[in-house]
Amino acid sequence: MTPLSINHTVLERFLRYVVIDTQSDPGSPTCPSTEKQKDLGRLLAGELQAVGLADAHLDEHGYVYATIPATSDKMVPVVCFCSHMDTSPDCSGKNVKPQIVRGYPGGDIVLPGDTSQVIRVREHPALASQIGNDIVTTDGTTLLGADNKAGIAEIMDAAQFLIEHPEIKHGPIKILFTPDEEIGRGVDKVDLKKLGADFGYTIDGETAGQLEDETFSADAMTVTITGVAAHPGFAKGKMEHAIKIAAGIVERLPKDTCSPETTEGRDGFLHPTGITGSLESAKLSFIVRDFTEEGLKDKEALLTSIVEDVLREFPRSSAKIEIGRQYRNMKEIVDRHPQIVVNAMEAIRRAGLTPVRTSIRGGTDGSRLSFMGLPCPNIFAGEHAFHSRLEWISVQDMEAAVRTIVHLAMIFEENA
Ligand SMILES: [Zn+2]
Repeated sequence: MTPLSINHTVLERFLRYVVIDTQSDPGSPTCPSTEKQKDLGRLLAGELQAVGLADAHLDEHGYVYATIPATSDKMVPVVCFCSHMDTSPDCSGKNVKPQIVRGYPGGDIVLPGDTSQVIRVREHPALASQIGNDIVTTDGTTLLGADNKAGIAEIMDAAQFLIEHPEIKHGPIKILFTPDEEIGRGVDKVDLKKLGADFGYTIDGETAGQLEDETFSADAMTVTITGVAAHPGFAKGKMEHAIKIAAGIVERLPKDTCSPETTEGRDGFLHPTGITGSLESAKLSFIVRDFTEEGLKDKEALLTSIVEDVLREFPRSSAKIEIGRQYRNMKEIVDRHPQIVVNAMEAIRRAGLTPVRTSIRGGTDGSRLSFMGLPCPNIFAGEHAFHSRLEWISVQDMEAAVRTIVHLAMIFEENA
């Protein structure tokens, strides 16, 4: 197999996309949550049309759809590549000023716009494998937005290459760019019928070479406590304080396990995300995360038993526990179509990397897409330290992602 010779546009595209502010807003009820995400959507649809994808368009909900027509006569599955256009509400994405460290010599990277912001090798060990590469960072005052504009730039570069090389055989390829992934609403208004894909891949992973086919399963829990109010001057033997009951519940959560700050790898957690209260009533919000259904149920049972236990000391108070389903581990769906993972691992190998199959301690657009009927694991985009001012990515990793996308399209055709 001869290596692909791609005249890359990925860096210039990336630099063009990251300066467009596309921060999403969890407090907004609209879709997209912020109109400005459509600024990037319009640019992308225009660029896709300019390279010859006639059906490229931005819809009213802020989604970009396009098709790269097949160059093969075989019946090849329709594969979709997907990235999200928004950036995290956790860190400013306005006036992003990307910087490039060419031929990274090793060592810590001090960001020039705020020298207190330092990407230290000690805290970012992935830097150690980037010696000699070109690294893009911010100036230290905003996030970079490699999450997930790197994925967008990579898909765009791969699309341009495939259009310019009709001799490369592949089936129909769909491109999907979504808004509002960072606020968990990235696939709320996606039209899978219109998309018409058999399999999908989000290009939104971290380290080069990684393929993630497993995500957390996720539920939300709320505990609404009703205490007994009384005038504080005349409360002896009467008052049962809802805030104190809530505090008692939080106090009894496991200290050394089961929390985000004490777990990694395959261990899940039970994590309080909100507390509000007054004398008469209080509300605790939790998220529950695990890779298995059983693990979720165990944690939900644990919280329920803690609540019951605390309430024994407050016999006239009560609590209502509600569990809401958020998303499920995509592995259950992806495993039904083993070729999705096999082909992606082979594409990563052909791109010159060592493929690593792994899991994500979180969810992706792909977790929900998988359960909506589009099995959709996650391929690396090369993003590091996302949602922070220390976010960085290397140009070489972005180029490897482009090669992976192109090879993946070719492999589906070869195997058809
Ligand atoms: Zn992302």
